[in-house]
Amino acid sequence: MLRSCERKYYFQYLANAYLNSFDPWLRQIALLKKMKNIPMWQGECVHDAIADFLTQTAEGRDASFDLLALTLQQRMERDWKFSEKRQFREEPASIGRFGAALFEHEYDEVPPETQISELVNEAREMFKKFHEWAQTHSSFLTEFKSAKRRWIEPPPWGDGAPGFMVGDVQAITKVDLALHLPDGRFHIYDWKTGKRPFTEIGGASNSTQVSIYMLWPHFVMNFPLEKVKSSLVYLGNAQSQEVSFHLDEELALETKEVICNSVEQAQRWENYVKLGRLKVEKIDFASSVNECRKCNFKSVCRATLKPQAIP
Ligand code: SF4
Repeated sequence: MLRSCERKYYFQYLANAYLNSFDPWLRQIALLKKMKNIPMWQGECVHDAIADFLTQTAEGRDASFDLLALTLQQRMERDWKFSEKRQFREEPASIGRFGAALFEHEYDEVPPETQISELVNEAREMFKKFHEWAQTHSSFLTEFKSAKRRWIEPPPWGDGAPGFMVGDVQAITKVDLALHLPDGRFHIYDWKTGKRPFTEIGGASNSTQVSIYMLWPHFVMNFPLEKVKSSLVYLGNAQSQEVSFHLDEELALETKEVICNSVEQAQRWENYVKLGRLKVEKIDFASSVNECRKCNFKSVCRATLKPQAIP
């Protein structure tokens, strides 16, 4: 985020913006931080349906696809109605509990052909692909049921949250599912509701993401790297597709270096702001106008600037 736009990073992480801030500008930033675009929200709904399926299976209950798909539909319809009416402006504290705040509604940018029924169908299809993948995968459900320990969409904060420390910074590994298997292996899964990218290796962000995830069991629970595996399961293509990754010593070191460099850069920049050497008015805009078009903060970003100062 810092590389794509320093202002966006400021609004997201440094502005001290809360829903009950005294300053209306800060209150607006706090609200905009909660916005999701339609694909993100749709993906989150599918992830929650998968987590419900896995939780029920872990509890030994018979997780019914039809019932879970119905819950998914009802949740999406409720969220959509809340967002479409812009209820999030009056009831921001309800966002995420009783409804969604969608970027496209906030900015009146819903593509004209968008129908909630179609979004629900797409989400149901993705959930169905996951369900079929889980049933037909040779070992997934057996391993899942026999796992010594399972993490199903664990909360990213608090005691025991997945992650590790880089100096005094907590690196968060927001896994969708992790399994500690009885034979000593550790398997991390990440569900992808987008389409599989053409290239998976060579610095593509998805492989970097799971490489970072794999450092968590290695650093924190001392799993040897050869026992740790991660899988990306794509649900956005015609067929579900699974791509798996391992880390060797060299890649683990490289990955750690990527994180350390990012943390160092971000801390250096944050210090300029915190020490007052960089004021919000002077913080750089995104270099690409496309970045601004899809940015949550576009209504507050340029509000304090005179027109001639806008690049
Ligand atoms: S509107 Fe553009 S310049 Fe402003 S925060 Fe967003 S991406 Fe950055």
